[in-house]
Amino acid sequence: MELGGREAHHLLEVLRARVGDSLTVFDGRGQEGRATVVQTAKGWVRLHLEESWPARKETPQPITLYVALLKGDHLSEVVRAATELGASRVVPLLTQHCVVRELSENKLLRLRRIALEAAKQCERSLIPEVAPVLPLKDIPAVEQGFVAHPRVSQRVRDAYDPEKPTALLTGPEGGLSESEIGLLEQRGFTPVTLGPRILRAETAPLALLSLVTAAEGL
Ligand code: SAH
Repeated sequence: MELGGREAHHLLEVLRARVGDSLTVFDGRGQEGRATVVQTAKGWVRLHLEESWPARKETPQPITLYVALLKGDHLSEVVRAATELGASRVVPLLTQHCVVRELSENKLLRLRRIALEAAKQCERSLIPEVAPVLPLKDIPAVEQGFVAHPRVSQRVRDAYDPEKPTALLTGPEGGLSESEIGLLEQRGFTPVTLGPRILRAETAPLALLSLVTAAEGL
């Protein structure tokens, strides 16, 4: 197994790996293993895979986080923390009240890199996919979904079924409109509370994800 580019740089310059060192590796597709460094050169590493096994860092059912486009660099922070909290996929959403209305190709690539780095850091075996922007009206029907909406009283814990794939959704700084909530309900989303305080648009997705993964031990 050979590594080049950023991965080799990280291993050699940051982790200071040397020939003979043993490390834990993962392939981003659900396998992890133990490998030994057998040869290095500038920007290049050869590893020998000693053994591999299916990793158990993933939620039993996939969790998709739909998050409205946010101002500034807040999506980066959301992608990083969502990776730590176990999201399988992050889908940036264009909604009626989004102030920011697009995500450049460069920014999308940067979000994907952030997901990769965060997955390594928290020893996940899957790198969450960051999808291109989706208009809210194009969201597919879901088997189980929760949309965070202020001023409702339904709690996630009273409705959540860990046996089903889950979609989670939070709105932008200006919130979701009642017609958007209506559409989401038709597609299988249940409006849920995140408590009596209004959370910032970058805090809400992490609070919602935590209710499913951290709270349930998934
Ligand atoms: N002014 C907006 C608030 C937007 S907060 C309004 O009154 O609707 C941004 C997003 O965070 C919301 O769209 C919602 O998805 C989520 N959110 C923030 N606080 C919440 C809470 N207490 N309960 C449920 N969802 C919340």
